[in-house]
Amino acid sequence: MDVIDRLSEVLSRIRDAERYAGRAEGSTGLVAVSKTFDADAIRPVVAGGQRVFGENRVQEAQTKWPALKSETPGLELHLIGPLQSNKAADAVTLFDVIETIDREKIARAVAEEMRKQQRLLKLYVQVNTGLEPQKAGIAPADTVDFVSLCRGAIGIEIEGLMCIPPADENPGPHFALLAKLASRCAVDRLSMGMSGDFTTAIEFGATSVRVGSAIFGTR
Ligand SMILES: *Cc1c(COP(=O)(O)O)cnc(C)c1O
Repeated sequence: MDVIDRLSEVLSRIRDAERYAGRAEGSTGLVAVSKTFDADAIRPVVAGGQRVFGENRVQEAQTKWPALKSETPGLELHLIGPLQSNKAADAVTLFDVIETIDREKIARAVAEEMRKQQRLLKLYVQVNTGLEPQKAGIAPADTVDFVSLCRGAIGIEIEGLMCIPPADENPGPHFALLAKLASRCAVDRLSMGMSGDFTTAIEFGATSVRVGSAIFGTR
């Protein structure tokens, strides 16, 4: 199987999971996670029709995406890793979606950069559903207030919520919690599910899944 076969297989598993869950066909988007793979490894996937990609480091993304984006108009790049405020300017320049807003300082830095650069990104709040100390994300209990703060005093729209469940736990309850928080926040996008659990995430209402190794191979 080459990378295009694996991409097709992931797309067909997404369509099957939507059908199984009784959801509309095409209601789940695919973010192809290309971290650690270079531009030459990514190009065939772009040529195969994939338009939405995810990277977890700003600096790494800067080494490949300016060229890839200029070759192919219409690519959408998501930041799915932690953002430091000193990288906010670079992140706003390069990315189209930031999925990892998780504290006031970052929300304010991104808001200021979007105003300065006159660029409007789509923003998600990352929720640490497992309350893991080593993991980024806002605590579930603080999510509703944080989304209100973003929309109010900070003045940015929050489009969705994102989570990464603990690696050693059944992900279902974490996906269910994220969906419940999203409805309380009146947010309608849910970024959840990776190579090992994206079909489960679709059952729980994921509107996008972030799939890396099942497409690009092991890192
Ligand atoms: C790496 C990564 C993924 C993709 O993980 P795979 O298991 O390779 O599909 C998804 N989300 C985040 C936040 C990641 O860092």
